[in-house]
Amino acid sequence: MSKAAIRTACPYCGVGCGISAIKTGARSVEIKGDATHPANRGKLCSKGTHLGETVSLEGRLLYPEIAGQRASWDAALALVAQRFLDTIARHGPDSVAFYVSGQLLTEDYYVANKLMKGFIGSSNIDTNSRLCMASAVAAHNRAFGEDVVPCSYSDLDEADLIVLVGSNTAWCHPVVWQRIEAAREARGTKLVVIDPRRTETAERADLHLPICPDGDVALFNAALVEMQRRGLLNEAYLAGHVSTPEGFWEQLSGGDDGLDEATRSAFFDLLSKHSKTVTLYSQGANQSACGTDKGNAIINLHLATGRIDKPGMGPFSITGQPNAMGGREVGGLANMLAAHMGFSGEECTAAQDFWASPTIASRPGLKAVDMFRAIADGRIKALWIMATNPAVSMPDANCVRAALDKCDFVVVSDCIAETDSAAFADVKLPALAWGEKDGTVTNSERVVSRQRPIFPPPGEARGDWDIIADVARRMGFGQAFTYTSPAAIFREYAAQTGFRNEGRRLLDLSRWAEISDADYDGWKPWQWGGASPFSQARYSTPDGKARLVVVTPPLSEVTDPAFPLRLNTGRARDQWHTMTRTGLSPKLSQHRREPWIEIHPEDAARHGIANHAIARVSTPWGESLYRALVTESQRKGELFVPIHWTDQLSSGGRTGRLPGQMVDPVSGQPAFKNTPAMIAPYAADWRGFIVSAGKPDIAADCYWTRVRGEHGWLVELAGHGLIDVEALLPAGQRIEAQDAKRGTIRVAVRNEAGVLKAALFLTRSGTLPPRDWILAQLGPDERAQGAELLAGRAASPAPDAGPVVCVCFDIGAYTITRAIREQALTSVEAIGKTLSAGTNCGSCRPAIARLIAEAPIEPQATIA
Ligand code: SF4
Repeated sequence: MSKAAIRTACPYCGVGCGISAIKTGARSVEIKGDATHPANRGKLCSKGTHLGETVSLEGRLLYPEIAGQRASWDAALALVAQRFLDTIARHGPDSVAFYVSGQLLTEDYYVANKLMKGFIGSSNIDTNSRLCMASAVAAHNRAFGEDVVPCSYSDLDEADLIVLVGSNTAWCHPVVWQRIEAAREARGTKLVVIDPRRTETAERADLHLPICPDGDVALFNAALVEMQRRGLLNEAYLAGHVSTPEGFWEQLSGGDDGLDEATRSAFFDLLSKHSKTVTLYSQGANQSACGTDKGNAIINLHLATGRIDKPGMGPFSITGQPNAMGGREVGGLANMLAAHMGFSGEECTAAQDFWASPTIASRPGLKAVDMFRAIADGRIKALWIMATNPAVSMPDANCVRAALDKCDFVVVSDCIAETDSAAFADVKLPALAWGEKDGTVTNSERVVSRQRPIFPPPGEARGDWDIIADVARRMGFGQAFTYTSPAAIFREYAAQTGFRNEGRRLLDLSRWAEISDADYDGWKPWQWGGASPFSQARYSTPDGKARLVVVTPPLSEVTDPAFPLRLNTGRARDQWHTMTRTGLSPKLSQHRREPWIEIHPEDAARHGIANHAIARVSTPWGESLYRALVTESQRKGELFVPIHWTDQLSSGGRTGRLPGQMVDPVSGQPAFKNTPAMIAPYAADWRGFIVSAGKPDIAADCYWTRVRGEHGWLVELAGHGLIDVEALLPAGQRIEAQDAKRGTIRVAVRNEAGVLKAALFLTRSGTLPPRDWILAQLGPDERAQGAELLAGRAASPAPDAGPVVCVCFDIGAYTITRAIREQALTSVEAIGKTLSAGTNCGSCRPAIARLIAEAPIEPQATIA
């Protein structure tokens, strides 16, 4: 009898794909896309496809800890409640804070928000979604009177023109990308990509606009002026449904967008030709000191041309996290009260009456960057971090670490035991992970889906809502936190959205306020607000009209000669946030094995950076080390680094320490993508790598990064001076070879059965073998000859496959380029037929297209 599939939702990006999971063992699961889910219709990207590799209990926090020692739940929660009560009694409610996460489920978020705002009486709860899309929220509130995304994914199917702004969709929202590609193929939809970088997404566009950093407002203001000049404004829509501030058109100022006239005109021509336009924007727009203005510049264009509220058109902010939207809905941001209510007297009274609470927060709390500043200067004395890793992900992360170190009392609830942030915790509380959680999430198109448990709670781990409610009861708020299930919390949340709403807010889930436990268990994905939420053309403003907002391009920056470059940050295709989960997957670890930096060839030459060498990047706030990737995809004067690496995985690739605390003045969202920076070579006089069955701890003062293989670990190394080789290797039967001329040392260590335990390759001037063959020799059934191990190659080696492009079928770049060259393959489909690459999750299809465009190329050294 076949086992029943559990329908759940992917825990990674804001696309919110449905998953069909079949439990195949105590901690194993078979993952497929849910063909019935409207977000993905059965598709999954590489991250979702390989979720099954992340569900083991390795690295899990399974028991509460106090001061690093295992403790009972009773002792840990009593301590948390007492320290929070004591701190509030002595210093007031604003002396405590929660820093939460878009990884929480809506029910978790709801209980945390209720405790902080309705019972502690402070608004000091903010979420890592502040780093992701707070500017889009602020832009929605300014334009629509409510944080409502006015689009659905189906609009992408019907648009004639899709404009991507600051979005490497092919890497960061791959299933939406596949939907865009399908629309292009089916109906010839035009694609414009606005991004300083020529990403794999930009390479696939009909038109790429490589704007300068923060050139978006200037570009969209110019587009609006041009639409007006060409007579393409929708005067009827403007008159009936949009409120235009006095002097709006006169104040539409332009500025430098970094584009040439021909490129800009080509964009305006496409806009003129296609009224069915969707503008999809993401972190590239939001993570900016003018992110809210960028959002409103985009919305202005759509409102003024009437390209909104109808199928195939609209401004579409897509979120980074799986439940950023759920957090926004319940009030997880410090500047919203609850259920899309703000802090007017009427709304505060409504929230307090609904919760029957003793107190209510009456003003916004501290947003993330300000929250950590307040911790640093002692205003906040007790902090509870839930399901996030601010010691890595916050800007100016070194200051965040100093603040955590100084904070009187830090609680971390997480499913992972050793995170960079957990190192600062006085109390660690084990939370459930994906595969165990039970509740709801809302994706970027407002579809509410269930995350359902596949496995029972491991160890003593508990749901976040359960932990928070227990602390609330211990703080004396028992009557209001008697929940026994997520369904009960959902009913209360749904009722709150309708409480004294009377049509003022579109977020109204009150039809679900009486949902039974059985119906909650059987919940099918449901979209609040419908496909076009403003289709009645009534916005959530007092007069029912949307608002054009005057936005002005930022002033040009004064360049500090010490930091003449601009640093941009972003995501890798197959990793998620701080890699605490995706880093568990050997498959996902293949695509990019080291933190890398992209730099234009002219800048590389100017600053002495060789391709694939290690480079040191410094900013006024910190410095990090990366493997250099010299590429013309990068604009001159600009650098790009990924965000994911932590101190657990590298000595130097932690990016959070590089950006400063600059934020958008309206949304408080940090500016991660335009930091003054400098680059210099890292003077390594030796380099090499280790493969090891056990997890190697590198104590040496050198560059190292650590990544997981199927049977062990791969550690890349570079440094100067002496290194203690013995300290890097385990005990065992040892063979070695040295070449004094090249300064080369090669050592292999086997166990008594002849299985490789570890191998080390170091050199001062020689070449190093490819990594994959020797990494595979850690497998229990491998028995390579000693000479082969020391050579790092089989006696009759297969051709080097190169860096992995297709993680589903382990197909490398050189294998693909050989096939292109030798078999004259000219399409992604032909590669798929020949090698299977790109035929499963499809995340690598843009990379294959790039290889076809670049072919023929010769194999060369890789950044892996
Ligand atoms: Fe998960 Fe990928 Fe879907 Fe995002 S696109 S929700 S990461 S499967």
